[in-house]
Amino acid sequence: MPKKTFPLSAAQLEELARKHATPFHLYDEAAIRANARALKAAFAWNPGFREYYAVKAAPNPFLLKILKSEGFGMDCSSLPELVLSETVGVRGEEVIFTSNDTPAEEFVAAVKLGAIVNLDDITHIPFLEKHAGLPELVCCRYNPGKLKEGNAIIGHPEEAKYGFTRAQLFEGYRILRDKGVKRFGLHTMVASNELDAAYFIETAQLLFDLVAEISAQLGIRFEFVNIGGGIGIPYKPEQEPVDLNRVGEGIRSLYAEKIEKTGLAPLDIRMECGRMVTGPYGWLVSRVLHRKSTYKDYVGLDACMANLMRPALYGAYHHISVPAKEHLPHDFVCDVTGSLCENNDKFAIDRALPRVEPGDLVIIHDAGAHGHAMGFNYNAKLRSAELLLRENGEVVQIRRAETIADYFATLDFESLKTFA
Ligand SMILES: *Cc1c(COP(=O)(O)O)cnc(C)c1O
Repeated sequence: MPKKTFPLSAAQLEELARKHATPFHLYDEAAIRANARALKAAFAWNPGFREYYAVKAAPNPFLLKILKSEGFGMDCSSLPELVLSETVGVRGEEVIFTSNDTPAEEFVAAVKLGAIVNLDDITHIPFLEKHAGLPELVCCRYNPGKLKEGNAIIGHPEEAKYGFTRAQLFEGYRILRDKGVKRFGLHTMVASNELDAAYFIETAQLLFDLVAEISAQLGIRFEFVNIGGGIGIPYKPEQEPVDLNRVGEGIRSLYAEKIEKTGLAPLDIRMECGRMVTGPYGWLVSRVLHRKSTYKDYVGLDACMANLMRPALYGAYHHISVPAKEHLPHDFVCDVTGSLCENNDKFAIDRALPRVEPGDLVIIHDAGAHGHAMGFNYNAKLRSAELLLRENGEVVQIRRAETIADYFATLDFESLKTFA
């Protein structure tokens, strides 16, 4: 049976939905904090451990402030994300700027803020030097190519646009050393939504071996390795979450052998997960508008792809529950759709649900990362509000829903009057 949870009872949710128009995203502060502590505990053996939350996953400053208070840094890849991190007081080396195809002004801003700059390419060394100057600390992103298998979302590393090749990495650090850079980090990200703990242990091993080789060859010292994000979440009820303690312990024993014994310690373990940090603790709440039966049965919601596009974009599974009817048999097979004029605007295809009716509230699970953030305005659909369930049980709005005025805000209707 589904292990999917939701922090409110059906009656509490109905009451909330009377106060706040559906659709909305709801996040659970207590669960986010407990999970953040579990991640830190798994790496407590490494005193310099830090998780940099991938801001793109849920760029809401209220959520970022919670994560900051748990000791997380921020992983940013654009100027607005850097600004957002600064707004909540995450500064300097608590920020890593992991970007690609980077505009000069974004490097300038990152260096000015004192963020750790993580370079995506060897040509970015002279580019960064020219536009922003080389900071004292530089990190480079490794793409292991055929040395490492990818997974379904990120594909094969050799097909991915990110990072330096192995040869470029040796050359890049040599150039950086010769130009006077003193402090070094090494980064890779080879997975996305990966549920196999062994994958992250292998990634650490790959980086530990490289740190040893590059340090020996170039006579430089690494301060940290960043194993990237990509820890998956169990979107399907039958899946198991990644055992964080297993990841932490696996990396710990490799660290003892490959870093401590070889005199390369201390080396800080860093990561930049987004999905596993907030994903399971955010839900999209929507109401059924219509039920139609043609060649198939359809349930039409008041939410659409603008609120959560992963199912339409990747065919991703998101569990759907109907709180008031979960006790009933799940014998109604239907497609759950939004209202976009795009046939792929579906949250689920051929899903067995209880017999839902117009007016029922439905919950789409695991929408706390890459959910609201991916929203877009195609078909003039407006993005929904974000609510936060505080630890004291109170629900606060942390982002209002868009209005038609927001949608029109970039248009100049005054100049339209005289436009012929
Ligand atoms: C997207 C991304 C992340 C976060 O990935 P998750 O799958 O959300 O953990 C981290 N680092 C980089 C460079 C990314 O592009």
